[in-house]
Amino acid sequence: MSSVTTGTMKGYVFVGDNHAELREVPIPTIGYGEALVRMRLASICATDLKIIDGRLPGRTGTVLGHELVGEVVAVGEGVRGYEIGQRVYVPGDTPCGQCYECLGNSNGRGCHTDGTIAAFHFAVLRDGAHAEYVAVPYAQANLTPIPDTVTDEQAVVMTCGGSTGFGGVESSDLRMGDVVAIVGQGPVGLAATVAARLRGAGQVITIDVVPWRLEMSKRVGADIAIDARQVDVVDEVRRLTGGWMADVAIEAVGTPDTFLTALRLTRPAGTLSSIGNYGMRGSLTLPLDAGAFMGGIGEKRIITTTSPGGKERGRRLMHMIAHRKFDLSPLITHRFNLDDIGAAYDLFRDRREQVFKVAIHPQS
Ligand SMILES: [Zn+2]
Ligand SMILES: [Zn+2]
Repeated sequence: MSSVTTGTMKGYVFVGDNHAELREVPIPTIGYGEALVRMRLASICATDLKIIDGRLPGRTGTVLGHELVGEVVAVGEGVRGYEIGQRVYVPGDTPCGQCYECLGNSNGRGCHTDGTIAAFHFAVLRDGAHAEYVAVPYAQANLTPIPDTVTDEQAVVMTCGGSTGFGGVESSDLRMGDVVAIVGQGPVGLAATVAARLRGAGQVITIDVVPWRLEMSKRVGADIAIDARQVDVVDEVRRLTGGWMADVAIEAVGTPDTFLTALRLTRPAGTLSSIGNYGMRGSLTLPLDAGAFMGGIGEKRIITTTSPGGKERGRRLMHMIAHRKFDLSPLITHRFNLDDIGAAYDLFRDRREQVFKVAIHPQS
C-alpha cells in the first residue's frame, strides 16, 4: 500500500426503484490486487441507464458508472509497475488476467472469474466510476498508462463504448474490401464505423433514425448514411450494393427489430456481429425465410461480443490514438461536474441537444 486515503466522497448511487442519487459514501478501501484511482474524467453509458431501469441486473446501494480515466492514488499488495499520480485508462470490463480464458485471450473476453458476465464488475459487483474515487479490481491486468499525447477525453470514450465498437469489427473478421453495414450510430455504432474504415472496408453503410447521428456518421467515415425512417433499409442496401448485401452487418443498438434488420442485411456466408446490449428481458426470434435465417443453411455466422477489457487491449488503443489513427473525442458533446450528475443522466436519457457522450468531471 503506497498511501492511504480515507473518509467520504461523492458517488452516484443506484438506490433501486428506477432511481439513482448523488450521495456521500465511504472512499473505497483496496484489497489484494486492487488499486485506488482518483477520477479525472468519467462518462455515461447506455448500460448505466439499463441498470437504473432494471433491464440489467444491478445492486442497490452501488455506485454507478464504468467509463473512467483517473490517476493512481494507492495500490494494494500484488500490484507492481505503477506510480502514484500516474494517469491511467480503466477498461469498463476488468478481466482477472489469470484464468484460462484470460491467459488464452488478451482481451479477457470470456473471463467469468467472480461470476460476472464478460468481467463486468463496476456497478454490478462493486462500486463503479461515477464517484471521486474508484477501487479497480485486478489492477495489474487492467490499468493502462496513458501516453502524454493522449487526452483524457480521447481515452475515456474508448473505455467501454469505443472498445465495444472496435471489438465488433475485430470479431467479425472484416476483410479489406468488404461491404459493412452498421445498424445504429450512437457512440458504439460510430466507433464501429471508424473501426471498419481503419480495417479497410470497401464500403461503409450506416443506418440510424436520428438526423444528427447520421451527420456524425458521415463525418467519421461512413460512405453513405441511411435514414431508416425514409426508406426500406434492406431494399436500400440491396440497391447500393448491386444485390450483394453486407459481408458484415454490425448490430449496435440492442433491440429485436434492429437485430432482425442486421440479419436481413447479412449476405449468405456473411457475418452478423452483434454488439448491442439487449438487456435480459424478452427474446429474439429469427424468421426462417430466405432473406433472414435462410432455414439455417445460409452459412451466416452470428457472433456476439461486448467491450474487451484488459491493459493489453488498452495499450493498443492508446497507441493508435497517440499516433493519430483516430480520435473519437468529438463524441463528447456535453460536460458536467459530479455535483450535477443527475442532470447529466437526464440529458443523456432524453437524448436532447444532439447528445452523444456526456463527460463527468470530479469538480468545477
Ligand atoms: Zn459502457
Ligand atoms: Zn480471467
